[in-house]
Amino acid sequence: MIKKHLPVLYCLILFLQVSFIESYVGGDFLLFKSTVAVNTVCQITPALLESMDVKGLLLDLDNTLTTHDNHKPAKGVPEWLKEMDAAGIKMIIVSNNSEERVSPFAAMLGLDFVSHSKKPLSKGFKEARNRMDLPFENLAVVGDQIFTDILGANLKRLKSIYVDPIEHEKTPFFKLKRRLEVPFIPKKRIEIPIFVENETKEEQKRK
Ligand SMILES: [Mg+2]
Repeated sequence: MIKKHLPVLYCLILFLQVSFIESYVGGDFLLFKSTVAVNTVCQITPALLESMDVKGLLLDLDNTLTTHDNHKPAKGVPEWLKEMDAAGIKMIIVSNNSEERVSPFAAMLGLDFVSHSKKPLSKGFKEARNRMDLPFENLAVVGDQIFTDILGANLKRLKSIYVDPIEHEKTPFFKLKRRLEVPFIPKKRIEIPIFVENETKEEQKRK
């Protein structure tokens, strides 16, 4: 088990070292820093994307659109996707998970997908960009993991939107990854009322 993940751990340690050096010379953890951070994808609004000059989203799946191995999207996600679609935002799922996992979920939501994307490498992002027919500068990576989604975006110099994971994983490997992420979790979240279907702006203001 541990032997299988040793290359990943070596990469993490290397990136941590690079990041601390970067911090020492004043880089402010640029490798692990997202452009913006929100609590959930439902807080990403067309206005926010317009302010970032983003016209397409490269969406992570697990713990971003739903929890691991869950075949149903998280609460509010289908409505949010419709809102994005109506605003003309192109979207594609870019996941490191298998085609068996990603394909039915993407089909249910009517989204295209790239599976086995090997984030933080850029392979999946490039494939997604080609299918979306948008320049890289108009794309943003959306995801819950610093060492795959956010690092991958920064290595490819893409904009990124960090979302808090929907739930914390219980496997030892994920627990370690989450612990290593702690110093790099964004401190500030953009405060936007969560989009809830049939809820009026007055009701949201009262909260
Ligand atoms: Mg994820």
